[in-house]
Amino acid sequence: RAKSEGRGRACIFVPEDEQRTLHRVNTESMLRESIQNGYFELYYQPVFAMGTQRIVGAEALVRLRHPERGLLAPGEFIDVAEDTGLIVQLGEWVLEEGLRQLSFWHRDYDSSIYLSINVSSKQLQDNRFVRTLEMMLSRYRIKPGFLILEITETMLMHNTDHTLEVMNRLKRLGCLLSIDDFGTGYSSLSYLQKFPLDILKIDRSFVTDIDTNSTHNALVSAIITMSKALNLRVICEGVETEQQLETLQNMRCQMGQGYYFSKPIPADQFTLGYLCGALKTPSAS
Ligand code: C2E
Ligand code: MG
Ligand code: MG
Ligand code: MG
Repeated sequence: RAKSEGRGRACIFVPEDEQRTLHRVNTESMLRESIQNGYFELYYQPVFAMGTQRIVGAEALVRLRHPERGLLAPGEFIDVAEDTGLIVQLGEWVLEEGLRQLSFWHRDYDSSIYLSINVSSKQLQDNRFVRTLEMMLSRYRIKPGFLILEITETMLMHNTDHTLEVMNRLKRLGCLLSIDDFGTGYSSLSYLQKFPLDILKIDRSFVTDIDTNSTHNALVSAIITMSKALNLRVICEGVETEQQLETLQNMRCQMGQGYYFSKPIPADQFTLGYLCGALKTPSAS
């Protein structure tokens, strides 16, 4: 911000602003360095069917393993990646790495699991996105119906027309579309009807206190019921306790993910733990 005010102007920093600018600049250069050196990794969090508690898929969640700063979660860099547009490059890497991993899992372990990938609005605005995705799907021989693209609710509420057009193209490709963090963006289920969605993910903030906050409890229950009427499958995020699991099972929520089942883990740990270990589901062999 200060930069655009030009030279020669007295520029009085509020220390907080200065810090924010510094953080941004530092993070941006760290991101460029990390893209160049391949410091990113994908972690995978298993998604379970609530009824049978069998694994149905995984969500890919990006991590940055920096030689000096250690393992960083997206909260530390995703905002800056989006603001600077670097998310387009990073997102392309995530897509390719995720599909490569999925093709390996499908070929050697379990051809029925889904992979969810988070997509930011900058990526959807990028003209090449759909073509790049199409190319990668064919390169890794992935059936598009096993790829779930997650788009946040707030994203759907902005730049609606273009987003809708891209979503329709993705739908025609055969991908599944999911709304992420539902409940945080104040949109209604009827508003969602205009988008070609397959899955709705209820935000963690509603699941966290589902057993203590009666409003959230009622909301989640209503969302699950109405989603069924709209033909949307539901995933609850942030299931941490057995009690929450039970509550959600009683509400007939189809799928869940959260620390109760597993934290996001590296790919090889996911393979060992969920696709070939003792935890492998009996029906998936
Ligand atoms: P998200 O897509 O809503 O992902 C769920 C987040 O909740 C993940 O955080 C996950 O680790 C965390 N989580 C899952 N279960 C639990 C639980 O039971 N308790 C608690 N407290 N947390 C749980 P993470 O990995 O830090 O990712 C944060 C956000 O960063 C994601 O939220 C997503 O919006 C974004 N993100 C992650 N990877 C990518 C990516 O490749 N591309 C883009 N554009 N965004 C990404
Ligand atoms: Mg997500
Ligand atoms: Mg989410
Ligand atoms: Mg979230």
